[in-house]
Amino acid sequence: MSVTAIVGANWGDEGKGKITDYLAGQSDIVVRFQGGNNAGHTVINDFGKFALHLIPSGIFYANVVNLLGPGVAVNIPAFLKELQELIDREVPKPNVLISDRAQIVLPYHIKLDEYEEERLKDKKFGSTKSGIAPFYSDKYLKIGVQISDLYDEKRLRARLENSLTKKNILCKHLYNKPEWSANDILPGLLEDASRIKPYLCDSNSVLQKALAENKNILVEGQLGALRDPDHGIYPYPTSSSPLAGFASVSAGVPPYTIKRIIAVAKAYSSCVGTGPFVTELSGEEANELRERGGSDGEYGATTGRPRRMGWFDAVATKYGCLVQGATEVALSLLDVLGYLKEIPVCVAYEIDGEKTENFPVPLKLDKSKPVYEKLPGWECDISKMRKYNELPENAKRYVEYIEKSINAPIKLISVGPEREAIIMKE
Ligand code: GDP
Ligand code: MG
Repeated sequence: MSVTAIVGANWGDEGKGKITDYLAGQSDIVVRFQGGNNAGHTVINDFGKFALHLIPSGIFYANVVNLLGPGVAVNIPAFLKELQELIDREVPKPNVLISDRAQIVLPYHIKLDEYEEERLKDKKFGSTKSGIAPFYSDKYLKIGVQISDLYDEKRLRARLENSLTKKNILCKHLYNKPEWSANDILPGLLEDASRIKPYLCDSNSVLQKALAENKNILVEGQLGALRDPDHGIYPYPTSSSPLAGFASVSAGVPPYTIKRIIAVAKAYSSCVGTGPFVTELSGEEANELRERGGSDGEYGATTGRPRRMGWFDAVATKYGCLVQGATEVALSLLDVLGYLKEIPVCVAYEIDGEKTENFPVPLKLDKSKPVYEKLPGWECDISKMRKYNELPENAKRYVEYIEKSINAPIKLISVGPEREAIIMKE
């Protein structure tokens, strides 16, 4: 029995969707274990180009079960819309299940997310406004709604009324916005309930059975290590843990079954939303990297927002791999750097005149200045190369330099956004 985790080593958008789509071909089940439709995982394969938000990136294989685990924030209308789009674009037999223990994003979660960003004005977090922070707050306040609650109207109404007693105080007195009543929401939820029913399952039974039958399971994380609420850049993390360790709890597989942890690290840095970002570039340098990056420039797959850009940060990525417990690394987007004569890599931070290679607490990140080493570029297109030995010497030198500086073995190298643009490095 074996579970492989595919998780981010950085701030998110490392190309996890692409790597999951590639590796799902050898898997039986792919599980999304946290986050919601604030995720944007880009997949490019024979069926076209897709931005997946809630649906796991194994959806392009009809024989792979794609499961939304109990820890996912399920926005039912968004899920149904995403699934319909896949069907409309002729993805054959999308095979998807949702845990009946997962909780749902409610209409007021989305509104409260918007209201809070509006209230914070220039101090806002840069939320995707999908309701994710209010959703997880409610879950841990024990006022959330599980999918299975949708099938008992009396219980559902009582839970909504209890929750809205608190929400309406915020709506009225803090945000100066209209109040909600359970009657406003109930009819829509009951309709959602009937539409979502065919996809529900007891995810523990599905996963236990798969493990007993020695099936291959992939767990796919959203965002990256530096957005973890405990280990990341608090107060700018996401609201659920994107760490491989959390997949055990949040998908529902025993911790000792997760044998392989692939941390996806980007060959340069990008970051969406607010928060400290030590290697951040500005001006032309940032614009050029942004336009050349990703599959079509570095713009948010969910929001279309321009991503903040920077050089590779070995301090942050080494830490990201460490907290992920990476057994190996997939280095993505290496092809993008082919335009550079010299490539800066951040090897240390200088904090109050002292150099450190250890990622500090968030308080010190604002004071951290990047210390760069410059590596020679390869100045050519490597996107058609499929073997490690075909890579120019300077590209190999860059990969091996990074491998050493993050203290984790790089086993996969991605050289283009398409499924097949992968190099195995042993
Ligand atoms: P995710 O959230 O980790 O799945 O990453 P995103 O899909 O949000 O962002 C990664 C971007 O890089 C997308 O535009 C991908 O299509 C693109 N991409 C992924 N791997 C590669 C690669 O190796 N090279 C290039 N040029 N683009 C890539
Ligand atoms: Mg993304």
